[in-house]
Amino acid sequence: MSRRPFIAGNWKMYKTGPQAVETAIYLAKLCSGVNDPEIMIAPTHLSLPLVAQAVKGSAVKLGAQNLYFEQEGAFTGEVSADMIKAAGAEYSLIGHSERRQLFGETDDTVCQKIKAALGSGLKPVLCIGETEAQRDEGKTYFILDKQISDGLKGFGLGELSELVLAYEPVWAIGTGKTASIEQVAEVHEHLRSLLERLFSKDLADRTRILYGGSVKPENVKQLMGIKDVDGALVGGASLDADKFIKIIKYNE
Ligand code: PEP
Repeated sequence: MSRRPFIAGNWKMYKTGPQAVETAIYLAKLCSGVNDPEIMIAPTHLSLPLVAQAVKGSAVKLGAQNLYFEQEGAFTGEVSADMIKAAGAEYSLIGHSERRQLFGETDDTVCQKIKAALGSGLKPVLCIGETEAQRDEGKTYFILDKQISDGLKGFGLGELSELVLAYEPVWAIGTGKTASIEQVAEVHEHLRSLLERLFSKDLADRTRILYGGSVKPENVKQLMGIKDVDGALVGGASLDADKFIKIIKYNE
C-alpha cells in the first residue's frame, strides 16, 4: 500500500497572529503546484482562524498543537476539539513530548484527547518518543510500546484509519541531534509491526509514521529514504518558509 508522504510543521509558541499570517501566506505561495507531499502547519490556537484564511485554497493544511478532551464546560484556558475544527484545522498533534514533559500529559490524557479529536472529525497526530535516559537504560521499546498501547487503548479498528504517528526521540527535539538512519529505520519498522500486532496488517500498512527531531533541509532526503518513514514533523526549521519549502521539496 502506498502512503502519501506528509510533512508537518510545529510552530510551537512562536509567531504572533500577524507574523503567522505573513509566513503562512508566503509558504502557501511557495507551495503552489506541490501535490506531494501533503503539507500541514500547526500554529498556536490563537492564530488558527487567521492562518486558515491565509492558506485557504492552497496546498497547505492546518493543524493544532494540542486540544482538551472535554467537549465544553468550566475548563478555564482550555480549547476543545470542536473549537479547533471550527477554526479550520484538519489535524491536531496529540501528546507532543513538550506537553508530556512540561504540562503533565500522560498516556491516559493522550487517549482521551485522541477520542475527542476523532469525535470532532480531527485527524490525530499521535507523538511518541523516548528520553535520552530511557534509551540509555535500554527502555526505548518498552516506552514506545506503552505510549502506543495505552494511548490507543479501547479504539476499534475502524476508528483509527486517519491516525498519523510521529516518532520523536525526545533527545533529538530542538537539540540539533538527529537520530541515526539505523536508529530511525529500526524504530519505525518496530512501530509498524506493533500496529499490526495490536490492530491489523491493513491498519499498519496504511498508517503514516513521521520522524521528528532536528529535521533540516540537509538531512530530510536521507530520512525520507528510509523504508518505514512516511514523513517528517518539523519544529525549528518550519518557522522559516524558505527553509521549510526545502524540506517539503526534499525530492527535487
Ligand atoms: C518538534 O517540535 O516536534 C520538533 C521535532 O522540533 P525540532 O524539529 O526543532 O527538533
